[in-house]
Amino acid sequence: MKTTIVGYPRIGVNRELKKVVEKYFKGEIGLSKLFAESKQLRKKYWLVQKEKGIDYIPSNDFSFYDNMLDMAFLLNVIPKRYKQLDLLPIDTYFAMARGYQDIEEDVKALPMKKWFNTNYHYIVPEIDDDTEFFLNDTKPFDLYREAKELGINTRPIIIGMFTFLKLARFNTKRTFEEILFELTNTYIEILKKFEELGTEWIQIDEPILVTDLTQEDINLFKIAYKKLLAKKRNTKILIQTYFGDVRDIYETLIELDFDGLGLDLVEGIKNVDLIKRSGFPSNKILSAGIVNGKNIWRNDYKKSMELIRILEQFVMPENIWLSTSCSLLHVPYTLLNEESIEENIKEFLAFAEEKLEELKDLKSLCIDYDFEKNDLYIFNQQVLKRKITDSLSFDAEIRSNVKNLNEEDFIRKDKFENRILVQKEKFKLPILPTTTIGSFPQTSEVRRIRQLWRKGEITETEYEQQLQKKIKEIIDFQEKIGLDVLVHGEYERNDMVEYFGQLLEGFLFTQNGWVQSYGTRCVKPPIIFGDVKRKEPMTVKWIKFAQKQTDKIVKGILTGPITILNWSFPREDLELREIAYQIALAIRDEVLDLEAAGIRIIQIDEAALREKLPLRKKEWNDYLFWAIRAFRLTHAKVKTETQIHTHMCYSEFSDIIKEIESMDVDVISIEAARSDFSILDLFKENNFKPEVGPGIYDIHSPRVPSQRELEELIEIMIRKLDINKLWINPDCGLKTREDEEAKLSLINMVNAAKSIRMRV
Ligand code: GLN
Ligand code: ZN
Repeated sequence: MKTTIVGYPRIGVNRELKKVVEKYFKGEIGLSKLFAESKQLRKKYWLVQKEKGIDYIPSNDFSFYDNMLDMAFLLNVIPKRYKQLDLLPIDTYFAMARGYQDIEEDVKALPMKKWFNTNYHYIVPEIDDDTEFFLNDTKPFDLYREAKELGINTRPIIIGMFTFLKLARFNTKRTFEEILFELTNTYIEILKKFEELGTEWIQIDEPILVTDLTQEDINLFKIAYKKLLAKKRNTKILIQTYFGDVRDIYETLIELDFDGLGLDLVEGIKNVDLIKRSGFPSNKILSAGIVNGKNIWRNDYKKSMELIRILEQFVMPENIWLSTSCSLLHVPYTLLNEESIEENIKEFLAFAEEKLEELKDLKSLCIDYDFEKNDLYIFNQQVLKRKITDSLSFDAEIRSNVKNLNEEDFIRKDKFENRILVQKEKFKLPILPTTTIGSFPQTSEVRRIRQLWRKGEITETEYEQQLQKKIKEIIDFQEKIGLDVLVHGEYERNDMVEYFGQLLEGFLFTQNGWVQSYGTRCVKPPIIFGDVKRKEPMTVKWIKFAQKQTDKIVKGILTGPITILNWSFPREDLELREIAYQIALAIRDEVLDLEAAGIRIIQIDEAALREKLPLRKKEWNDYLFWAIRAFRLTHAKVKTETQIHTHMCYSEFSDIIKEIESMDVDVISIEAARSDFSILDLFKENNFKPEVGPGIYDIHSPRVPSQRELEELIEIMIRKLDINKLWINPDCGLKTREDEEAKLSLINMVNAAKSIRMRV
């Protein structure tokens, strides 16, 4: 048996890649430094994998921004507007990712979407009539060579043509089929190149195969891959899937002339049934994803060994590779630097580096006749037993609170139609009220204040005073520019989930557990370790202070239960639904405390509601049922005149619009800037009840939209939806922006709204 992984995190133990890329963006370093530092990082990770005994090490899992974007760039899927900028290749690449703006040019970034059911985002390639596929880049080949110079014959990874096209946006008269067949030729070129380089294996990722496929999809896949595989070759191909099972296409996959098939045996546990039912060809490698690439718990060697023994009944051991369920991109790098987590708790966990060790352990257990007497195995089982009995994870009161919930806990007393009238009467907001999503730029000053406080270098009182000063400043700014509903800026929050997790019981934190979310943005998901409980109010003092500074309405901002759940690493010994209800009860207490403190609008962010929506439609209902209920639990008990908002990012709603409506909020703000406002048509067609704030500019890009541009957008909006139902806001929080950019954009936004108000 051999070991391998589906991919490795690239951002760096200390987010080195993020830092160096951002320095490049700011013009603080040049290209040579950017390239040299990233090369060092790659070297480090290849060598770590080698040292930890991984037999087949991947390459081209590295990316400066995103692998889908890399693929688009490689295949020359570069829309004209970026080519015309006439920049260096790497800057064209970054322009696609982030937009580009100088005195003469002004181009928006490509849209970004969530990568399957993860919190990683990919850049959506755009295929138009001009798209002409050819190899436009050499990165995968260069990296292969780079590793080879270190003595490592890697397995380059590329995203497969089927997944690539399925995730792309089509803006062309040509059909999917035509494009797919054209593209296949370019993939043949890629293969040829690797072949020339002497590559032993390449990995083609086709995660789209774990979603619902039609017969037509399957046929197209088959025809395209038959063509790709037709030529006899020396480079072997591993077709890799992850995030689920391949029930619709398993037979086709084993029939086609691939040399190996990578299956997820964690999220895609049904894959085992497919193997049992249809067998596995004796001339292929099975890359068995048994170590969870998405969660951070220690592998259970007993379960894994049982699984491997089953696989061995169908596949010869020498044809099995032990692998991860998906790329380790989705877990933090290492536990080694986690000083604040106690040793006995660390034993329950495994991050990327530790997962490499687990693979090695499992490999050695596999060849041990008496593996149950092996120390590795015994230790593993002892640790897991201790975890089960650990009292940290159980709180009788919380369990009974969840158990005793009844229908009224989920239903607001008044109907939307009544509430909104009462609220309009009380708030007296103008039409097209302007607001923001919550956070203001987290400047180095803000981060410094928090850091000093964390390290104990300033007292609690000093900390409060300094943050209050920031809050006051931002309230003044918002008043001055004429925003209608203000926010306190979220300066006390490092992250919208981590902040709450830190104040709730049942969460565990890492110091350095960074996971890439998009581009250079990383998050540090907390670990849900035990039952969740609120110890004390978490946000009230800040928001109350902000409200004191102004007569305008300050909107209190909280993170919703599903987002807290989905952006954490959940425990696996309790149903997700139960965890969600526990968190919801904690947030409900906070909502009621805010209301009692005089806060009239409360926004409960559910940025990640869609994230764990199962990839297969059949399973949607179950998830949505409890997810929406958990959300409703947080606000069902507020008064009629308290207005509840929610905010959602990157949301595609077309297929869950009824469920979104049933969250029963008064106002919803959504990301709409990187797509178009087509979502508003959908709201209209469906008679969507809540008021809507479709984000009118993209905050993920440093670009400042002009007042004129924003006015035009508002005009489009009011043509699509009743003006009395519309709010004007950016498409997400401003925390990642520079102060200057954020302020200029907001001024333009408020002025645009004002000028439209005068005209209508
Ligand atoms: N209120 C949060 C903020 O403004 C929302 C962020 C998000 O949706 N990702 O930062
Ligand atoms: Zn958002």
